[in-house]
Amino acid sequence: MFAATRSVSAAAKLAQAARLASARFNSTLVLVDPSTGALPAGTLNAVSAATQLGHPITFVVPAASQAAAQPLIDNLQPLAPAKILVAANDALAAHPTTPELIAPLVADAAKAAGATHVVGTTSAFAKDVLPRVAALLDVQAVSDVTGVVDKDTFTRPIYAGNAIATVKSKDAIKVLTVRPTAFAPAAPGSPAGAPVEVVAGATAPGAASEFVKEELVKSDRPTLDAAKVVIAGGRALKSADNFKILYDLADKLGGTVGASRAAVDAGYADNSLQIGQTGKVVAPQLYIGCGISGAIQHLAGMKDSKVIVAINKDAEAPIFQVADYGLEADLFEAVPEMTNKL
Ligand SMILES: Cc1cc2nc3c(=O)[nH]c(=O)nc-3n(C[C@H](O)[C@H](O)[C@H](O)COP(=O)(O)OP(=O)(O)OC[C@H]3O[C@@H](n4cnc5c(N)ncnc54)[C@H](O)[C@@H]3O)c2cc1C
Repeated sequence: MFAATRSVSAAAKLAQAARLASARFNSTLVLVDPSTGALPAGTLNAVSAATQLGHPITFVVPAASQAAAQPLIDNLQPLAPAKILVAANDALAAHPTTPELIAPLVADAAKAAGATHVVGTTSAFAKDVLPRVAALLDVQAVSDVTGVVDKDTFTRPIYAGNAIATVKSKDAIKVLTVRPTAFAPAAPGSPAGAPVEVVAGATAPGAASEFVKEELVKSDRPTLDAAKVVIAGGRALKSADNFKILYDLADKLGGTVGASRAAVDAGYADNSLQIGQTGKVVAPQLYIGCGISGAIQHLAGMKDSKVIVAINKDAEAPIFQVADYGLEADLFEAVPEMTNKL
């Protein structure tokens, strides 16, 4: 009798383990930034990376309610997800994108979905949320993934992009941010009717932080991460007004303007335009660096550009080592001349 009971309970345990294993079989969660109803830049690239993991994709959208998330849900349907989870909490109506609120919701959604992978694009939003999610799940986050070797193994740049580390995660749930410029954007098809499920947040909102206000830089130009042409200016520009010559060139080429940290620190350009290790990573078709020396921390943000052009009056400037085309010239003469010739 005793032996029989034991064997039943062993069988029950086996069945439970099998259920858990199969619950974990099919599940990659892709975190979506809910701050606009539009598909945020980088989500399509994160979908490509997530597709390489070989599982159907479930989107997780943090929102106050399903109704609040509906515009975004409509935009996600053409990507043919298996499911769309709304990680809902009323508090997000007043405090959108607050990571302390969102991380527990996403961690709960990952548990509810039996996720093996939670993926976000390397953006300020996901960099804020996903390490918190990893800590709540008691796993190690892997940041800024540039390649998927297999479902446990990833490549990521270290030392400002001067070495590529291949890391293997032994965690049950892999929490990843992926570098958008390393993955082609997924192509949306016709809208599919994936089921939408609401996972209400069990976690009570803490008062640790609150959303006060945001100040967005308004621009008609393409965003830095989406632009095919980037004209970047450095300390040599000497003033914010002088950046106008870069904007004139960018307008002719249908591109946008970026900056080095020295230019940002000096107040010549807004912080959102900074390219580099502590700014944005861009990989446009054409990058033109004007009066930028090419410090290692700047190169970390642009050296994967398809064609790099450098304009600098110092022939020894390190940027010439990564430039496909270099022009040793005074930018205040060369840039307007280029603009006129286009
Ligand atoms: C932890 C850390 C993180 C950092 N993160 C970043 C980052 O994300 N992004 C970043 O950019 N930097 C970053 N930096 C700073 C970086 O080290 C450099 O200081 C910075 O990139 C230099 O900017 P710059 O090239 O504009 O200026 P400079 O190095 O001063 O170079 C100016 C260049 O302009 C040239 N020049 C001057 N006048 C003219 C002219 N009239 N015509 C043509 N050329 C001219 C000069 O020959 C020179 O090469 C970081 C530094 C640290 C320590």
